[in-house]
Amino acid sequence: MSKIRVMDETLANKIAAGEVVEKCSSIVKELTENSIDAGAKVVMIHLQEGGIKGISVIDDGSGMDNEDALLAFQRHATSKLYKDDDLFFIDTLGFRGEALPSIASVSHVILKTSTGNVGTYLEIEGGKLKTNESADARKGTIIEIDHLFYNTPARLKYLKSEQSELASCVSFLEKFALAHPEVSFTLTNDNRTLLKTSGSNNLHKTIHEIYGLQISSKMIEVKNSNDDFDCYGYICKPEILKSNRNHMIVIVNGRVIKNYEILKAINDAYYTYKPDTKYPVVVLKIETDPTLIDVNIHPTKQDIKINKMRELYELITTTIKDALYQNLLIPNAVERMSNLNPIKQDIINTVIKEQEETYEKDEKIQATFDFVKAEESQEENITYNSEIKELKLYPVGLAHGTYIIAENENGIYLIDQHAAQERVNYERNMKHLKEKKVTTTELLFPITIELSNSEFEKLKEQKEILQEMGFKLEEFGLNTYIIKSHPTWLLEGKEEESIRKIIDLILGGLDGFDRVKFNESIAITLACKMSIKANMHISHTAQEELLNELCQCDNPYNCPHGRPTIIKFSIYDLERMFKRAMN
Ligand code: ZN
Ligand code: ZN
Repeated sequence: MSKIRVMDETLANKIAAGEVVEKCSSIVKELTENSIDAGAKVVMIHLQEGGIKGISVIDDGSGMDNEDALLAFQRHATSKLYKDDDLFFIDTLGFRGEALPSIASVSHVILKTSTGNVGTYLEIEGGKLKTNESADARKGTIIEIDHLFYNTPARLKYLKSEQSELASCVSFLEKFALAHPEVSFTLTNDNRTLLKTSGSNNLHKTIHEIYGLQISSKMIEVKNSNDDFDCYGYICKPEILKSNRNHMIVIVNGRVIKNYEILKAINDAYYTYKPDTKYPVVVLKIETDPTLIDVNIHPTKQDIKINKMRELYELITTTIKDALYQNLLIPNAVERMSNLNPIKQDIINTVIKEQEETYEKDEKIQATFDFVKAEESQEENITYNSEIKELKLYPVGLAHGTYIIAENENGIYLIDQHAAQERVNYERNMKHLKEKKVTTTELLFPITIELSNSEFEKLKEQKEILQEMGFKLEEFGLNTYIIKSHPTWLLEGKEEESIRKIIDLILGGLDGFDRVKFNESIAITLACKMSIKANMHISHTAQEELLNELCQCDNPYNCPHGRPTIIKFSIYDLERMFKRAMN
């Protein structure tokens, strides 16, 4: 009985319309998805010159009999979909069974396949069947594609450089392998292995196999659910941030998807744990009822729309925030010095260049310390910092009027004095802003604030925000307010500046006032203003005080902008660097 059904003409045309083999990676995607659909446990992809010269995919899936093999290359034949409605409730992987005939029409294809009985050998050139013979009975499918676009030279021009085609294949397969940790993938280019996963069905192990120890050792497991969604995966500690969103991988019901709102939820959860321009490494699997998903956007774009996005947003942000809070650690100086494996870095850089405009180029972290990176193996570079929340730092001195040098029994620390005080002030401000009862201070000399006409009107509507905070203000002539008292916690001598900042934030807010976000931005902005700057020589006692306050913070390790406050050199790091310890 044939597994492949001939599908309805309209649907075929619908899909075919958008059907373009844009890149070598679209072919790799099609073929590997077919392998997964065939139940393969081992999939090997071999590229030549990034796929431009040749692509072959070998799997141990169920294979096809002769009839199905022939049908697979006929337009409008697919086993994956056969009803128009299915387009909107897709839970099998592929809905592009159409792609195989398209690919075959512009290349030279060899297919060897067997269900375990008699095998089939097909050769197709420019869509025409050249050979149909029996072959050996190895179960599974081998498909080889070369001479891509040989008969449509115009299309050939659309392929990018070898490096770029390769980069997009690697990028696709990394994500695909993470979505399928139960399958072993191997990817080679010109016989060089670029990716190999074991098919252990262990997501953390798969992350390790793809990204290496430096990243996998910094991943925190997360797991949570609500009525509609289950989420599971790994998120990185803030020490290994990237300059682009490429490593935020979201898998919904087994499919790698791109969804701006989900990426935003992940990014928001890292708020104050990282700078706005850096992005985490995250692999997040979300399971939900397929009826909550709309695949009404172009299928090849991998984009979907989620109903109940609010609930999902809540689930993602609380899950990640909790996990980060539970795993606060000081960034270790030595780990920051090491870079990714250079081959991979090249490839990643190319992907980034090719990708969306907003994504910045990956940059290496703290490359100045390259003296360690070459000689040590990655294995040796992990040292877990365990002094969570029992942190104690004793100042030794101040360098450049900017960095406090401190020590304790575990090692030496460098503390950025501005960032540290910013964190202290930020947490203090947040506490004050949440207080129900505000203590206020009368101003001996009231402050007048002059505004433009429209600003004046806007502030009039939102006056209560200021009043609730503890400001007493009155209208005072044309477009002017007079401030008579302010909350006591504002920094003495900076009252006027602080008030202006707060009013700016109110006026700058879009429609819909968000109390939580507003408080956050006030706390951060004022914290920065209140804190000692770099190049200010503070006394030993002041250093001591600052470090004590910092150690008592909920998160002493980042300033509210997400920059690190503390960098650590453990005793072990020091011994290794000075060659006192030989391993
Ligand atoms: Zn600052
Ligand atoms: Zn900062």
